[in-house]
Amino acid sequence: MTILNADLHCHSTVSDGTLAPEALAERAKANGVELWSLTDHDEVGGQHRAAAAAHALGLPYLSGVEISVTFAGLTVHIVGLGVDPDDPQLMQGLAHTRGGRERRAREMADQLAAVGIRGAFEGALKYVGNPELISRTHFARFLVEAGVCHDTHEVFRRFLTEGKPGYVEHHWATLGDAVRWITQAGGIAVIAHPARYAHPNPTQEYALFAEFAAHGGRAVEVVTGSHSSAEAVRYADMALEFGLAASRGSDFHSPDESHTDLGALPYLDGRLTPVWELLAHRIQH
Ligand code: AMP
Ligand code: MN
Ligand code: MN
Ligand code: MN
Repeated sequence: MTILNADLHCHSTVSDGTLAPEALAERAKANGVELWSLTDHDEVGGQHRAAAAAHALGLPYLSGVEISVTFAGLTVHIVGLGVDPDDPQLMQGLAHTRGGRERRAREMADQLAAVGIRGAFEGALKYVGNPELISRTHFARFLVEAGVCHDTHEVFRRFLTEGKPGYVEHHWATLGDAVRWITQAGGIAVIAHPARYAHPNPTQEYALFAEFAAHGGRAVEVVTGSHSSAEAVRYADMALEFGLAASRGSDFHSPDESHTDLGALPYLDGRLTPVWELLAHRIQH
């Protein structure tokens, strides 16, 4: 059923969101979400709380995660839905992926200090809910607080991105590892927000889809907070071309920062196979 208000992508204080898993569950329910997943970056530490909160509200739930991957020099995000959050290989892989974040954050702060912005490491840390998950989003919040930028969108235009102060190149998980961790933990791997990657040419985007499918990846996020309607059409066509199922998720991070609220998305195109049809056995009621 493509006409379902599923929201299968968002972030809590366990990664770079500002709401706790319980508050997100309540917001999803209040916004009319009919199937929900919390997909924190590189971390499943919020999954039991999210599932319990959803259960208490009568909100069907799929466990989730969003894994940072380096593919052909680009950072790509792979969402895993329906994974067993206690799977030892998945937990070990995620712990390894989180591992370099503190050192990276210190280098980011050094670069910002070099352009006159002091105390960024400590400043970002104040916003961090999980000490293993210091992210660029936390630095962005500090730069707004410090009056350097008006909002976090301005931060990512002027800082923390390639070629700008505070950008540190980083090697995340490989595409194959991320897809395998998800799949062997009982889940389905999904290419997150595919329109957001600066592939140098169309061939590289095809390579991402082809290699993802070859590793066992089975779905792509077609409708998501950062996709225009034209991008949703483009990736609906790509899903059909590559025989992938389709996912839908807001990528909500914060009431103050996110353009798209939980559940406030167009429905999936009726030609697509929704990823939740493949995951019916993993939905927690
Ligand atoms: P990290 O995993 O530390 O590299 O941080 C990535 C996070 O930063 C993303 O999940 C977003 O929450 C945020 N982010 C990255 N780029 C942008 C951007 N251009 N605009 C807004 N948020 C961004
Ligand atoms: Mn994020
Ligand atoms: Mn992402
Ligand atoms: Mn996300």
